[in-house]
Order: sequence, then structure tokens, then C-alpha cells
Amino acid sequence: MCAIVGIYGNDNAARLASAALFAMQHRGHEATGISSGGYNDKKIYTVKNRGYVRDVYNEAAFKILQGDMAIGHNRYSTAGSDSVFDAQPIHAKYKLGEISIVHNGNLVNKQEVRQKLIDDGAIFQTGMDTENLIHLIARSTKDRLTDRITEALEQVKGAYNFIIQSRSKLFVIRDQFGIRPLSLGRLKSGGWIVASETCAFDLVEAEFIRDVRPGEMLILSDKDKEPESIQLFTGSPFRPCAFEYIYFARPDSVIDGKSVYRTRENMGKALAVNDKNSPIKADMVVPVPDSGVPAALGYAHESGIPFELGIIRNHYVGRTFIEPTQEMRNIKVKMKLNPMRSIIEGKSLIVIDDSIVRGTTSKRIVQMLKEAGAAEVHFRVASPMIQHPCFYGIDTPTKAELINATMTKEEVREYIGADSLEYLSIDNLKDSLGHDREYSMVSFDGDYFIV
Ligand code: AMP
Repeated sequence: MCAIVGIYGNDNAARLASAALFAMQHRGHEATGISSGGYNDKKIYTVKNRGYVRDVYNEAAFKILQGDMAIGHNRYSTAGSDSVFDAQPIHAKYKLGEISIVHNGNLVNKQEVRQKLIDDGAIFQTGMDTENLIHLIARSTKDRLTDRITEALEQVKGAYNFIIQSRSKLFVIRDQFGIRPLSLGRLKSGGWIVASETCAFDLVEAEFIRDVRPGEMLILSDKDKEPESIQLFTGSPFRPCAFEYIYFARPDSVIDGKSVYRTRENMGKALAVNDKNSPIKADMVVPVPDSGVPAALGYAHESGIPFELGIIRNHYVGRTFIEPTQEMRNIKVKMKLNPMRSIIEGKSLIVIDDSIVRGTTSKRIVQMLKEAGAAEVHFRVASPMIQHPCFYGIDTPTKAELINATMTKEEVREYIGADSLEYLSIDNLKDSLGHDREYSMVSFDGDYFIV
């Protein structure tokens, strides 16, 4: 997961970066960081720490974060640990000066690259695959940073969006498959913004210009001119991640031309169409908030069954899955969701959530609804069965922890205690997303296409 942002050519660069990170807090809340620079003083300043955006940036931080360009990051640990050393940006000095770098994604050949660098004498300060790129850039013998970055990228494989800040420019790169989202916008108050999700543009008042193309490098070096574009890699199919649409991204974001909200609604509609001939007589459609809401609306509209908020969410608790240990996740599910007894008592419910990963959340929800008097709970999942770990920037656990990889559908139904259980099929998912391109769906189909 993770969120990244770059701001170029605005006197409030660091403040705007922090606002954009605030809008993208859902993509990771273990740590956050901003590097800034510019104003011709050729220095890069960095502030980073563990915790939420609202806790890390304050006036003292903005005093440090001078300049008219900035890059920022919200961390969700897919590689490395959750220690502060693994917060980004990673800022380093090397032959050509200083650079700072933020990364969203996961490099699949990180171990080989790191081992080779270590064998050659490199010293690593973090557990992050991102640090590989810094070393590769620093060790390149090319004279220009653009060429050093290009040479470094030729040696890494995986899902990545990078924003690299030099003393005077920002370099933005999206991997050749376009797996993770990245968009370019123009700030109304002047200059440019690049961000993982367009919901960040809404908050900082930026106009969406376009998505960064797969395999493209943008160089931001002029506040008034469109960034220079270099197509670094060509020939790969565009395969954006389907899970962004299912769960990660905010519904108010538009990714690669498609509204996340609408695609989720389509997924719910498809579930309702599949249930058309089912003998179930449901009284209401209940979303698991917030991730199941758009799909539940789609289901309710398609089926004509009333939509009810049968579960209320406490908004002061973070995302449950996001906590690194199972024990913490268990407690957090209970802290987060509470059934509405008066609405659901004696009723037959269609309960909609976006996905089942380990099964912990859905088991707890079904139990909670039954204890609160629900007569029947029919669980509907607005994604296909997650049967394979994803190594392209999604934090899915090992195969052994994926409930749909170790149990049959009937066993999962029994385990979570639902009266019935249905998933979206892979074809339903493709229909919901549209057939104009392929998607990265490794969690569902095990097609590890990066070789
Ligand atoms: P569980 O089945 O208990 O492991 O958790 C499933 C819930 O976690 C889903 O309903 C989603 O809301 C959320 N979720 C699914 N995948 C992820 C992920 N890769 N990272 C964070 N949260 C996720």
C-alpha cells in the first residue's frame, strides 16, 4: 500500500504535501515523512516519524521543511519493519549531491539486488527495498541523474511508483505495468502535484491533468511548464491493480479513468444479479462499514432490498487489518464495529464486505450480528476468493494464512458462522472493472506476471 505525493513549484510545498498525505491516510498510518527543498539553496530537509499525519506535522516541522518542492510518504509496511528507520522519504548524500526518495510498491527482486550490493560492500540502514534504488543510483557512473535513475531502474523488477527529489527537480516514475495508481495535477495556487490518489487533489485544490503512464518518467523542473516526459519502458501490458478498486483506494478517487465508487457499486450489483434466483428472503442489505458501503448500495439498488446501516463504525479506530499482529487485529475488530440491535433483531440480512482475507473480521461480524438478534446472516463478498499472496505492493499474508487458500467455500461459511456465503467471480470482477484493459489480479488468479 503506502501513499506518495510530490509537490513542485509552490511556496507552501510541505504544507500541501502534508494535506495530501492527510487525504491519503487510509493507505498507511504506521509512519509518515516529508522531504522538502528548493529556493535555490540546494539543500534537502526531512521530517519523518511513526504515527498519523496529524501527529507528525506541526509548526516546528514546517519550520524545518522549507522550500518550494516536497515529496511525502505514508507508510504501510509491506517490506521492512515498522520501525522509524523504515519511515520514508529516504534521504542520502552521494556524488552528485543530495537526493530523497519515496516509494509505493514492492520490488520482487529486492533480495538478489540487495545481496549483490552487500557483496560489493554496500551498507544498509533500513530494511526497505527502496534503499536498493538509492544505492543503485549512487553507484552508477553516469554523469546525469536522469541517466543514473534509468540505469538503476533497469536493475529492479516489481510494482513501483517512485518520486525522487534532487536539489532542484522531482523525478516521478511509474512501473511498466502501471500496477499502483499515480496521477498528475496542477495546483490552483501554482505549481504541480503528483499523488497516489486523486482524492488528494480535491483537498489541496488541484486540477487533475492525467495519470502517469506505465513505464513513464516525468521530470518536474518548471513551475509553469508541463513536466518533461520520458518513456523509459515500453511493450508491457497495462495491468493496474484490481485490489485498489476493491478495497485500498478511497471511493472518491478516480484511478486510471475509473471511479472507484462506481466500480465498487458494480461489484455489488453483480452479487445481486447472482442472487436473483436464490430462495433467500432477505429483509435488508447491511454494509460492513466503510469498505462494504458502495457495493452494498449497488446490491440494494439492483435487488430492490432496502439498504440499512445495521452495523455502526467507531471512526476513531484505524483500519483493522493494518495492525501487524493477529492479537491486535482481534481487539480492534471489536472496538471498531457495533451492531444496531433495533434494526436487525429478528431480520434476515444480506451482509456485504469488500473481501475476506484471514476470515477474522467476517467471523467476528457474523457472531456479533447473531448475538444482537439477527435471524439469518447471508454473507456476500464483493471480490473473488483471495487464494494467493500478492507480491506487488499489497500486504497479503502467506498462503497458509489465507482462509480461502486452505478451506473450501463451505468450510469458510461454517467457520464464519454465516447462513450462506457467496463471492464475486473473477468474471464478475472483470465485468465490474470494464473490459478495456487487463488488471493485476494475482491474489485471485495466481498469475504472477512479473518475471
Ligand atoms: P480478515 O479477513 O479478517 O483478514 O480481514 C478482511 C478485511 O480486511 C477486509 O474486509 C478488508 O476490509 C480488509 N483488507 C483486505 N485486504 C487488506 C489488505 N491487503 N490490507 C489491509 N486491509 C485489508
